[in-house]
Amino acid sequence: MFSNEKLFEIALNLQEPWYVKRIEFDTTAGELHMYIDFRKGSRFPCPVCGQESKVHDTVEQTWRHLNFFQYKAYVHSRTPRRDCPEDGVHLVNVPWSRHGSDFTLLFEALIMALVAQMTVASVARIVDEYDTRLWRIVHHYVDKARAAEDHSQVRNIAIDETACQRGQRYISLFHDTDARRVLFATPGREAFTVGCFVKDLEAHHGKPEQIENVVCDMSKAFLHGIEVQFPNATVVIDKFHLMQLMNEALDEVRRQEQQNVEDLKYSRYVWLKNQSNLTAIQRRLFDDLSQRNLKTARAYRMKLALQEVYQSLDRATAEEGLYRLYWWLSHSRLEPMKAMAVTIKNHWDAILNYFDHRRTTGALEAINGLIQAARSKARGYRNVNNLITMVYLIAGKLQLSPAGA
Ligand SMILES: [Zn+2]
Repeated sequence: MFSNEKLFEIALNLQEPWYVKRIEFDTTAGELHMYIDFRKGSRFPCPVCGQESKVHDTVEQTWRHLNFFQYKAYVHSRTPRRDCPEDGVHLVNVPWSRHGSDFTLLFEALIMALVAQMTVASVARIVDEYDTRLWRIVHHYVDKARAAEDHSQVRNIAIDETACQRGQRYISLFHDTDARRVLFATPGREAFTVGCFVKDLEAHHGKPEQIENVVCDMSKAFLHGIEVQFPNATVVIDKFHLMQLMNEALDEVRRQEQQNVEDLKYSRYVWLKNQSNLTAIQRRLFDDLSQRNLKTARAYRMKLALQEVYQSLDRATAEEGLYRLYWWLSHSRLEPMKAMAVTIKNHWDAILNYFDHRRTTGALEAINGLIQAARSKARGYRNVNNLITMVYLIAGKLQLSPAGA
């Protein structure tokens, strides 16, 4: 039979010269305390240069460990400091925790496993810790994994943005469209945002001149940044963003017209949704409205025409279709559609580049689902860095290595 102390030494995977000196159960507080000590006369390596020498003095330290059944468990140690002739006085590295952490490696591994599955706030409740302390753990492992990332193979990227919360602030997301993962996320969506990405790319051995395609929306700031930062890249206007703009223009036409046509008031989704997704009631409303001579119905057909352009099999066909649509929009006498015509004209080549490369952010739909998940996991904590870290954790395909594994 093992003694209690020996049992916990095995459970903690303690090696000489470390040993469990005593165990205390505090049944009132529901806590288990493990006191770790080291054999007298032990020598420890300097954490900087590795040279071994004797202990200078000791410091009392405490770490939260995995619960022992219903007991919150803590590891206490008299941690030696050693005095290195070259590097000065340092705490030695202890095998059950990383430097500077208040938790054991196993506890941190548990937290990392849990936050991948639920919100940090829920994890905090389950393990009865402040979420700020848990966020520090998550930041540490995500930062460490990101530092080791290699982006030298990145060729095709997409730039996207997502609202932090309730449309307040934005973060820009830079995706690798081949590997389908988030490479970089940063607050804001200014021209220098692209420059921030390039710095990060280069820090991970990527080269901006190797970037071949950039899919993005029509944000002036992004387009300017891309032109400056990626001299060899083809810019592709994201199909979904252009369709979204078209939908907004269509809805604007409807809103203006509903002032005279009462029936249009509740028809917003009837025009925005795909025909096949309409409910029976919406279908009837659509059939009724589209038979009347409405501006909204006309604008709707313009949207269908843009959808049709995107069905084109090659660039030349698409360009013909786009030209017809452009002419129609600009002669429509509908202000929102005339504005669409100008937008299309201003981005003519970049819109048509889609037909050479067929690249969209559509491939990133799965990632967007993950971003939503990240946002809900980071919710309740109003720190944009927490959201970004969660995006990396969930959508970054990082090689995480908690517990020193
Ligand atoms: Zn040293």
